[in-house]
Amino acid sequence: MIFPDRMPPTATAVWWLIVHDNHLVDLASSEQSFEPPFLPVEEIPFATYAYTAEIGEYQGSPVFLLIREQSMKLLAGWQQVPLRLCLLRADSELFSLAARACQVTGFLQTHKYCGTCGEEVAQDREELAVVCGHCGLVSYPRISPCIIVGIYKDDKILLAQGVRHPEGMHSVLAGFVESGESLEQCLRREVYEEAGIEVTDIEYINSQPWPFPHSLMAGFIARYAGGELRLDPTELVTGGWFSFDNLPPTAPPGSIAWNLIEVVRKKVQG
Ligand SMILES: [Zn+2]
Repeated sequence: MIFPDRMPPTATAVWWLIVHDNHLVDLASSEQSFEPPFLPVEEIPFATYAYTAEIGEYQGSPVFLLIREQSMKLLAGWQQVPLRLCLLRADSELFSLAARACQVTGFLQTHKYCGTCGEEVAQDREELAVVCGHCGLVSYPRISPCIIVGIYKDDKILLAQGVRHPEGMHSVLAGFVESGESLEQCLRREVYEEAGIEVTDIEYINSQPWPFPHSLMAGFIARYAGGELRLDPTELVTGGWFSFDNLPPTAPPGSIAWNLIEVVRKKVQG
């Protein structure tokens, strides 16, 4: 639950996720960790900010989002880190809060005008939405579902390097759900379009929000059922069937891709 337009009680330290341009304020002295400010509201330099909301709880204390205007001064020792670095430095609970903070910020910054009549909209005070005072249209944050799937054939897994992946980094296949499509239909279509094969025994495993910028990854595994492997060069640079004793560099632990590779490993080796 997100509580918009809320301020914390005074004289009580809370966590502050202070966002500007997909960067967050960080106090950590080491490059291995991410540490947002933990301060009472009186110590936050509030001169110029756009919005606050209570977006969750961390280590027993409330977490507040504050969208920073460019002109808001940072205190001594405050630095800014990109959200992508938080993924590597924060624990998964803190990263998901940072991800939520950046997604809420992105939503408000891309929904300033009504999509129906073009008038300026106002932020709703009760829920995370914007409302048009002219025609009444209510708009909610966009969440874009994707499928991600670990495909196995005998004791091998299909891994490929996407055109946007770092050099050499292989992953399982993924793609966006289209309008009117079920997750299963999307999975079969994406696998066929990207790899030219058909799959069966589709099993849902787990999901993960992926805030670059607002995806929700639904993770599956599936068994190869037929067709000749033919990678789509517009999406994939290289790839193929890999044995688990000879895997290429893959997505890091903590990512859903890594988890799916491990699930497939247990499946084919168990
Ligand atoms: Zn309107």
